[in-house]
Amino acid sequence: MIGVNKWFDTFHVLKNIDLKVGSGEKVVICGPSGSGKSTVVRCINKLEKHQEGIIRLGGVELTNDPKSVEAIRSEVGMVFQQFNLFPHLSVLENLTLGPIKARGLSRKDAEERARHYLERVRIPDQADKRPAQLSGGQQQRVAIARSLCMEPKVLLFDEPTSALDPEMISEVLDVMVSLAEDGMTMVVVTHEMGFARKVADKMVFMDAGEIVEQGPPEHFFTKPKSERCRTFLSQIL
Ligand code: ATP
Ligand code: MG
Repeated sequence: MIGVNKWFDTFHVLKNIDLKVGSGEKVVICGPSGSGKSTVVRCINKLEKHQEGIIRLGGVELTNDPKSVEAIRSEVGMVFQQFNLFPHLSVLENLTLGPIKARGLSRKDAEERARHYLERVRIPDQADKRPAQLSGGQQQRVAIARSLCMEPKVLLFDEPTSALDPEMISEVLDVMVSLAEDGMTMVVVTHEMGFARKVADKMVFMDAGEIVEQGPPEHFFTKPKSERCRTFLSQIL
């Protein structure tokens, strides 16, 4: 993203956002509530429109034209705080829907792929259940598997563990760490700083619609430059 600005009516929600995410890179975004973290990731997959600046994905500029939006959604996976699974479909159907509809896979191939990724998120036995029959941690892992089934170029996570009971957080983070180790390109909004220290190539701190600070975690955690970032870290660490 280069020089991205966005307004909600007159409210300037993103101010000159410059953020580069290289292939295979892991970027962790943190910052106080209302600072614009979700809006940044929602702009990357075009759930939100930006008004100024450039967002490119693999060298291709993301525009607001519907064709481009459709293409982006199939290249950019997103995992939300509230898992957003289809409640009336089984786990397997949740996973096969996208690949069949958007990728043109046969049901058989889509199911094979779905079972592969269920294994990957360590819940191979839950394929025939409905989301409501699973724990929160399991539902979030289904949501991750669903994104993986589209074999996206980038995976975006918006506070993927903040709706979970504490004992389920680590099972989701463990899966995310293993994806990171596999070389997945990831942008993660989270306050789980243990996770961030483990996987982040780059830390981003946002406040009031701006990126106040970005850099490698070594610097970020030990000597943040800005007072705002220091204060924030002292509150959450
Ligand atoms: P949180 O940590 O609480 O999730 P955030 O950093 O993700 O916060 P955003 O959700 O990106 O923050 O919101 C940034 C600002 O934009 C907030 O002040 C929010 O109230 C405002 N905002 C978000 N969505 C809209 C919208 N659709 N219309 C108007 N204002 C919005
Ligand atoms: Mg948010």
